[in-house]
Amino acid sequence: MLNSPEGHISITGVSKNFGRHKALDNVSLEIPPGTVTVILGPSGSGKSTLLRTINHLERVDEGFIQIDGDYIGYRRQGDKLYELKEKEILRQRVNVGYVFQNFNLFPHMTVLENLIEAPVAHRQLSKKQATERAYELLDVVGLRNKADAWSRHLSGGQQQRIAIARALALKPRVMLFDEPTSALDPELVGEVLDVIKTLARSGTTLVVVTHEIGFAREVADQVVFMVDGKIVEQGESDAVLNRPQHPRTRQFLSKVL
Ligand code: ADP
Ligand code: MG
Repeated sequence: MLNSPEGHISITGVSKNFGRHKALDNVSLEIPPGTVTVILGPSGSGKSTLLRTINHLERVDEGFIQIDGDYIGYRRQGDKLYELKEKEILRQRVNVGYVFQNFNLFPHMTVLENLIEAPVAHRQLSKKQATERAYELLDVVGLRNKADAWSRHLSGGQQQRIAIARALALKPRVMLFDEPTSALDPELVGEVLDVIKTLARSGTTLVVVTHEIGFAREVADQVVFMVDGKIVEQGESDAVLNRPQHPRTRQFLSKVL
């Protein structure tokens, strides 16, 4: 159900400024389809900004991002890029699921209503089909018995698992996670990481910003370390986590481990 051979993210020379501050400074990164990339780095290093540009929630100032060859937020004509219309951007965003630190479920809806809203609104599925898919997704996150609960009555860990299911409802090629467990009580972190691990095995391309080094070690194909808007180190998780070369990576890892 979740398998997809798609989801190749290609980031080429991306820079993003906020006023005079360079939040991203010439970032290039290849994320092969079906792989898990963990992004590490101190606060303010540009991790969230990088994720947001992959969804065109931030417009880049230089460079470009492609998913499976399509320019994110742009259409190429000759050697020029033209920004897509809002409607086309929304259509493109269907390919990219996004999970935030703070769940962002609709509190006035039941769990089931949260899960069927987007596919029905995007006319991807009928209400009946969306309901069937919602139950499949509830099985993926282990919460079928909460279908009729109010989302505000769930624990933080359960809400985040529903937020993941909701992001999957549109069958994205790529899932982006921005510190998905950092707002949770420690005892609830594991259940959310377990769901992400299940997705990792399903072949969806995952990009995860997290400080959970154990998770990175177990699941990541690639680890990227950012400082001041730049990628200072990247490679296989074992190499970056166990034999970091850059002093900032060493310093960071010695603090979080
Ligand atoms: P991280 O997620 O690694 O903590 P961010 O990507 O959130 O870092 O931020 C990178 C830098 O860009 C920070 O200095 C932050 O203050 C700045 N920044 C992020 N978003 C905005 C914005 N909308 N306006 C101005 N500055 C921003
Ligand atoms: Mg952030």
